[in-house]
Amino acid sequence: MSKQPNEHSVRRIVLPSGRTIDVVRFGRGEPPAPPSGLHVCQQCSCDLVQPVSWSEAPNGQWELTLSCPNCWWSAEGVHGEKEVHALEDQLDRGLEDMLEDLQRLTQANMADQAERFAAALQADQILPEDF
Ligand SMILES: [Zn+2]
Repeated sequence: MSKQPNEHSVRRIVLPSGRTIDVVRFGRGEPPAPPSGLHVCQQCSCDLVQPVSWSEAPNGQWELTLSCPNCWWSAEGVHGEKEVHALEDQLDRGLEDMLEDLQRLTQANMADQAERFAAALQADQILPEDF
């Protein structure tokens, strides 16, 4: 068996109960492309740049104001349709990632509650009048 390249990242989250969970994100099997495109910050290279305003420009182009949530770099510029579509794809992917994380968090939270409920049951701390 050959060792797979390390394609996942781990985000540690502390729940209100004090329990920590690791949200593991696996790579999607895409070849690591050099960062480029409108979603890449020109100052800190983070790939979370978002459009904060946009308007149509002549010749099917778009005038965008882009902003980096990491270092607050911001830039205005006119971009072609192709570039803007690529940015839209990136934003969609980012949203999908966030929804997946949210789902994992919700499941972890429910597991946490179930654990506490089971512990309380075992300790005879849950009585019929609790319902
Ligand atoms: Zn930045």
